[in-house]
Amino acid sequence: MNKAENILKTIKNAVFPRFCVSCRAEGRLLCDFCNANWQPPSISLKNVVDGHLASFNYADPIARQLICAWKYHYDQSAWEHLKSKLRPGLANLRHIVHARKIEAVVPVPLHNRRLCERGFDQAVEISKFIASEMDLPMVEVLTRNRSTGKQAEREVEERVQSMINNPFVLKSYSATKLPTSILLIDDVFTTGATAKAASEILQRAGVKNVMVYTLAKGK
Ligand SMILES: [Zn+2]
Repeated sequence: MNKAENILKTIKNAVFPRFCVSCRAEGRLLCDFCNANWQPPSISLKNVVDGHLASFNYADPIARQLICAWKYHYDQSAWEHLKSKLRPGLANLRHIVHARKIEAVVPVPLHNRRLCERGFDQAVEISKFIASEMDLPMVEVLTRNRSTGKQAEREVEERVQSMINNPFVLKSYSATKLPTSILLIDDVFTTGATAKAASEILQRAGVKNVMVYTLAKGK
């Protein structure tokens, strides 16, 4: 962090004091005590359900608040906390990736308009991290052709409905270069409709095996 960023951080902390998402103590987003006592489930083979794997449960209030702090308040320290907790499961994920002969990591794309509103793409950040940890390339072969609205503000039924017309398209990418086995990555898995829509496009393009990894699962 450079000097300007440090000053900015000091000002931000003074104007918007941080409170622990778990015990509300002032200071950090997750205090040392709560961090030490927080034990989310680790990634394991038995967690793979229908080709989907997640590191956190969205019903876990700490995980949910950290994901939201990162996603909506751009709080990078939230991502650092999440990464430190999912790290112990990475050896198992590496094992699964190897067993399934995964060749590349593909992020589920965010619509361009929302990318501008939000400033960064969480799925790409997660993909970069997983790709580097798994020694795999990240290939951005998918793009969204229209906005499906802010999902968090929608009801589940509407969410499924909005995916009936597949919102994804394949970027101009030679079919011969497309990996046959892919790890598709998104931030949160709720109904599975987003991952399913993205998987369909990839499979139609010749990808044989699509495995899905999300930071969290649940509503
Ligand atoms: Zn705390």
